[in-house]
Amino acid sequence: MSDTPSIAGPMRVGMLGGTFDPIHNGHLRSAVEVREVLGLNTLHMVPAPQPPLRDTPQVSAAQRLALLKAGIGDTPGLLADDRELQRDGPSYSVDTLAELRQQYGDDVPLVMVIGFDAFLRLAKWDRAEQLFELAHLVVIARPGYQSSWPSALKELVGNREVDSVDVLMQRTRGGMLMLELPSLMAISATYIRERLQAGKSVRYLLPEAVEQAIFYQGLYQSDE
Ligand code: ATP
Repeated sequence: MSDTPSIAGPMRVGMLGGTFDPIHNGHLRSAVEVREVLGLNTLHMVPAPQPPLRDTPQVSAAQRLALLKAGIGDTPGLLADDRELQRDGPSYSVDTLAELRQQYGDDVPLVMVIGFDAFLRLAKWDRAEQLFELAHLVVIARPGYQSSWPSALKELVGNREVDSVDVLMQRTRGGMLMLELPSLMAISATYIRERLQAGKSVRYLLPEAVEQAIFYQGLYQSDE
């Protein structure tokens, strides 16, 4: 079985980091659509073992990575990337982008994709100002999240915002674009964890292979 064909045209690479606790259809549908809209050859989906700005998840990074792989399945262009599991200490996106920049070279547009909720906290990220020296930033709208930008964020973004993919891709880094993808999905991992703990159905919120793996391994269903 195959999905859409591979992307033609010049090389473009994306990175979507997250806790993926667990991966769900909000992540996956956004990943497919953002890859298509930006014309990315590969979108690296990178689970964070120790997200710096939140508690370390109960489910191990290895288990979350396994669920991510099950969720991606054979979807073209999406890659479950375990590089942050190979590093010690907190998972900083700037280090991941630096590795990707080294891997793909200086001439390739590299894009960090984040949801609007994560964007609102961006100024608090480690070495946030360096992100733009390594990559573009694409922010995707997320249902339920609408807010004015904190002033530190306005300062960080400055005049980097552009209004189209074409303009963004004229350079390899340093730009910022807000995107509203066609399929907005009001799904969060928090909602899925709450439902699993309450013994409620999560069918169609995440891929069936992920649901099966969660039940097979007994994940998220107790407080421990
Ligand atoms: P939690 O509910 O545990 O906070 P989450 O569902 O927000 O988790 P994360 O792993 O924290 O998932 O998200 C990874 C990235 O994907 C973030 O940039 C987040 O904004 C984005 N994202 C998550 N869910 C969606 C969604 N439904 N639509 C668009 N973007 C999303």
